Amino acid sequence: MNLNYNAPDENGRFGPYGGAFVPEILIPELRSVQAAFEQFWPDAEFQNQYLHLLKTYVGRPTALTFAERLSEELGAGRIFLKREDLCHTGAHKINNTIGQILLARRMGKTRIIAETGAGQHGVATATVAARFGLQCVVYMGAEDMRRQALNVARMQLLGAEVRPATSGSQTLKDATNEAIRDWVSNPSDTFYIIGSVVGPHPYPMMVRTFHQVIGEEVQLQLKDKTGRSLPDVLIACVGGGSNAIGMFYPFIPHPEVKMFGVEAAGEGLEGQHAATLSKGSMGVLHGAMSYLLQDHEGQISLAHSISAGLDYPGVGPEHSWLMDLGRVTYLAETDEAALRGVILLSKTEGIIPALETAHAIAALEKIVPEVASDSVIVINCSGRGDKDMQTIMDHL
Ligand SMILES: *Cc1c(COP(=O)(O)O)cnc(C)c1O
Repeated sequence: MNLNYNAPDENGRFGPYGGAFVPEILIPELRSVQAAFEQFWPDAEFQNQYLHLLKTYVGRPTALTFAERLSEELGAGRIFLKREDLCHTGAHKINNTIGQILLARRMGKTRIIAETGAGQHGVATATVAARFGLQCVVYMGAEDMRRQALNVARMQLLGAEVRPATSGSQTLKDATNEAIRDWVSNPSDTFYIIGSVVGPHPYPMMVRTFHQVIGEEVQLQLKDKTGRSLPDVLIACVGGGSNAIGMFYPFIPHPEVKMFGVEAAGEGLEGQHAATLSKGSMGVLHGAMSYLLQDHEGQISLAHSISAGLDYPGVGPEHSWLMDLGRVTYLAETDEAALRGVILLSKTEGIIPALETAHAIAALEKIVPEVASDSVIVINCSGRGDKDMQTIMDHL
């Protein structure tokens, strides 16, 4: 592959994927978000503020933990865990919401909107909105509000208004439609904080940039622990794909680093699942061209995963491109395998992972036998499992 990987292009295209498929009225909005990002991201004062918050509020750098007993158990070389579960609010998502809210403030916006599925991105957004005293509205499927009542209460306690999306399946894709509708009606004062590397350009590029601190820290920490800054293998779970691309991105130009993204195979690839890259086809969803799960008439299919964070019928356009390029290998793990992954990491390392993360742990059984026995493997531990205890208990 081309080592001068330089995506997206000026139109926000990752090969044939990406772009901005939105109502006309949002085009000037997207352009001004992009202009603000290009102006402020390189700005020293913005960088200082962003890095200061990551350090003093989020708790970065997050640890890189050598998983000694897990490595032994699987007969693997050395497995390390990048501990995004130690971030404030319990997952990687806040790296991105901090970046976007700083941008919103620079743009003079007074109102924040967001979409959320299980509520994790909603909580990360409500958290930073509270921190900066901005009005915050979070759209959430009515069905998801019932299933995730605790996160609804969290967002409300943080001062956000949670608005139910009552159309369609009353889940994440419907909440996203409502958020886009809100943005169309209130473009001047409102900033839309998108929760993964999805949506129209410039979001996939911007969200990737706010998460690439994950991979940059891995380079420094590995060098410190092993004497080399390049691992042999990187593994991360993929919902929209933000924790994965945040870790992968700095390593893309190094072909000796093998990268694996792990999607949710749900009940199995022949049943209900959320394996967009393994089983989907090209189409437009929520403003971007990418792989997605759709029927033969182009109607979006209902995704299924035991982990709410992977339960999305689309995927970030950059992952579609990296799959086509052959730079990243995408696998899928079932609900059952994920539950085994939760148990494995809990019992060997004393770390209860989020169900999303557990898909990446589960994939070790397939990956370890395929790589050299002295490999240095880094898994992105995207979040902690506290939020999933009820689901885990219901299934075990
Ligand atoms: C939201 C979430 C994910 C999935 O989102 P990505 O954008 O694919 O990273 C994975 N893990 C955890 C813990 C999450 O909260």
